[in-house]
Amino acid sequence: MDDTICAISTALGVGAISIIKVSGKDAISIVNKLFSGDIEKVDSHTIHYGFIKENDEIIDEVLVSVMKAPKTFTREDVVEINCHGGIATTNKVLELLLTNGCRMADPGEFTKRAFLNGRIDLMEAEAVMDLINGKTEEARKIAIQELNGSGSKLISLLREDLVKIISNIEVNIDYPEYNDIYVVTVNDIKEKIKYFNEKLSKIVDEYENGKILKEGINTVIVGRPNVGKSSILNKLLNDNKAIVTDIPGTTRDVVEGSISFGGIQLNIIDTAGIRETEDVVERIGVEKSLSKIDEADLVLIILNNNEELTKDDIEIINKTKNKPSIIVINKNDLESKIDVNKLENRNIIYTNTIDIDGIESLKDKISEMFKLEELKQKDYNFITNIRQVSKIKECIKHINDIKEGLDNNMPLDMIEIDLREIWNILGEIIGESYSEELLDELFSKFCVGK
Ligand code: GDP
Repeated sequence: MDDTICAISTALGVGAISIIKVSGKDAISIVNKLFSGDIEKVDSHTIHYGFIKENDEIIDEVLVSVMKAPKTFTREDVVEINCHGGIATTNKVLELLLTNGCRMADPGEFTKRAFLNGRIDLMEAEAVMDLINGKTEEARKIAIQELNGSGSKLISLLREDLVKIISNIEVNIDYPEYNDIYVVTVNDIKEKIKYFNEKLSKIVDEYENGKILKEGINTVIVGRPNVGKSSILNKLLNDNKAIVTDIPGTTRDVVEGSISFGGIQLNIIDTAGIRETEDVVERIGVEKSLSKIDEADLVLIILNNNEELTKDDIEIINKTKNKPSIIVINKNDLESKIDVNKLENRNIIYTNTIDIDGIESLKDKISEMFKLEELKQKDYNFITNIRQVSKIKECIKHINDIKEGLDNNMPLDMIEIDLREIWNILGEIIGESYSEELLDELFSKFCVGK
């Protein structure tokens, strides 16, 4: 962390301004070499107007913000150069910084430095990432709450509590002769463990709901060719200003799109028509469809109202019987030829892609199934991510071991081992202890410049 890093922090492209961020012990002196004024002796947290120059040539007219350590995001000296937003200008200023002693920042390196320098803990760092990646209003609200450190506070409090019990047990073991020291009883530990279990289990529950709010509902559309899958997808997407990405490949490949659905993200995948096929390319598409069903939070099985159920339809219906799914009988503007008695115990709705409100029934059903209104109104203490929740589940396992140990009269020094382990794991959640690999993995998911 001895070197000074720089990166373009704004999205690359043409815009009114671009911001290039520089952080490290030489941030001020390096920018000073390129700046028309003198920023070496200015007060911290001030902005300066001038020019970035290469020799005597003016490269751009800029505003330079000078923020001196330690009151900065990275806790290092930080300089931000606001230049004009053209790609050529921004790249030129970046190039000058690189040739004058800066190193290009790795993805997330500014946030990594903020963590390593104690400005934020690991949960807060992850919240920064969520805030950047959040696509819906709900995701944004959760991320800003995480960033306020509510999660970290709860974990820290639990750890403090654990330290108290552990030290009490230790004193009892090391100094049994002292009778003026409180003796921890099995009941004390049982009570504490119950409390931990309640708190941690609640976090796991909230994770499941929070995942939907944060990441959206991964929805797969399946069905035979020509039943109206693409039309339904397009209607959903058009109604909701979608971001559609055609995954490179063939037209029979998987097509994805995301819509903001009442504040929650619906990530939709339209799969190739599932049917027996000899065609190699189509086969790949079909295999993808089946694997997507396994990964999905919701499967929409589309049927054609105007055709009798086929063997392929029945197969798809059977394959999805244990998944949250909706059977969408499309083309309800045409005569019905489907025997719904064969679709017992399933969520069934009728749609068409011709009327303006032809797929409202589908939207209502999704809302109802995932209790979206209720989800949004719930009060979340904090929402974890998969890394954090898997650690919490490890803690719950240790809690169960402790319970079992206590029931079997296991000596307290053995119980203490599990308590210590819980303390350690909770520490890993907030980054009190961490490995280099974890940091690399985590921060590499950030964009460069954050
Ligand atoms: P996919 O192969 O399952 O993706 O099906 P498409 O979305 O390409 O639709 C197949 C055909 O059915 C197209 O000609 C659509 O215009 C038509 N279609 C789609 N939805 C409806 C509907 O609700 N009613 C009627 N009558 N035709 C529809």
